[in-house]
Amino acid sequence: MDRKILLIYTGGTIGMKQDPETLLLKPFDFRQITREVPEIKKFGYTIDSLSFDPLIDSSDVKPAFWVKLANIIQANYGFYDGFVVLHGTDTMAYSASALSFMLENVEKPVIFTGSQLPIGMLRTDGKENLISSIELAAAQDADGHPHICEVCIYFDSQLFRGNRTVKYSAENFRAFRSANYPVLAEVGIHVKYNQDAIYHPRVWGRPLRLHTDLDTRVAVLKIFPGIDEPLVRAVLSTEGLRAVVLETYGSGNSLSDPWFLGALREFTDKGGVIVNVTQCQAGSVDMGAYANGDILRQAGLVCGRDMTTEAAVTKLFVLLGQYNDNKTVAEKMEIGVSGEISEK
Ligand code: ASP
Repeated sequence: MDRKILLIYTGGTIGMKQDPETLLLKPFDFRQITREVPEIKKFGYTIDSLSFDPLIDSSDVKPAFWVKLANIIQANYGFYDGFVVLHGTDTMAYSASALSFMLENVEKPVIFTGSQLPIGMLRTDGKENLISSIELAAAQDADGHPHICEVCIYFDSQLFRGNRTVKYSAENFRAFRSANYPVLAEVGIHVKYNQDAIYHPRVWGRPLRLHTDLDTRVAVLKIFPGIDEPLVRAVLSTEGLRAVVLETYGSGNSLSDPWFLGALREFTDKGGVIVNVTQCQAGSVDMGAYANGDILRQAGLVCGRDMTTEAAVTKLFVLLGQYNDNKTVAEKMEIGVSGEISEK
């Protein structure tokens, strides 16, 4: 069973080791991964690795990083059965969301993983995360198709759809959650695939298409009791701004002050896109439920339903890069592209 897996190490806690003299955490040479995790040899797969230079703390991730990563995956797409991306946890949900929109027609596993404790530490969660990610990236069904054909995050025994995931704990091994979409696979004694939740292409063999023109003229605005007009106007009058992700309360409700609704209306009247997503961890925006949601619909907001902020921001980057016309972007924001929104 010869499978070929490419490990792409970008930085983050997982690839760190304690320097025996200084006791400080330092990245180790990832080409020596089999010295750190000799268990992976037992798979019998061909496992190649590639390290970013420089390695970064994922707090430094920028759209150019996603372009580099997408290009690496495309250049190697024909040579490997699956990809495991080792990434810091802080922005992993943004990166997995971005790649899910940038890699159109992907039908091989692209699994992001990382760890809360460095791989070189005794109680590390990094080894299990890495070993299981490799196993998931290599798994195929009886027809030789991969079990997983999408961009995912694997963490603490659970495989999630990348663009449904958020980082939720800064200290527990269970660091990620996907509140609005089921777990794709649970790894215990056996790997239990949730076939109903996993994406399966209707036809296999469509060519991978890359979207690397990202337009980042996007702002995220979170409302809070006491938010004032100068702040909202300062954000909305940002030079060149094309879109805003507005984080609202509950099922998509906001303050009803005329100055607020007026400022939103002015922005949408000028062609700007405002996507309404909820500040809640779970559930969906429904601008028809309350009067305080309906006023946002009247102000021209797009319904982000149950999309995460991470997915909304990165989807906007990709769509704004593809279309000059904001109206088209607004329409496409309400339509699922890679499983990021639940059907109505
Ligand atoms: N700050 C680190 C990063 O995101 C934390 C981690 O690796 O988990 O790169």
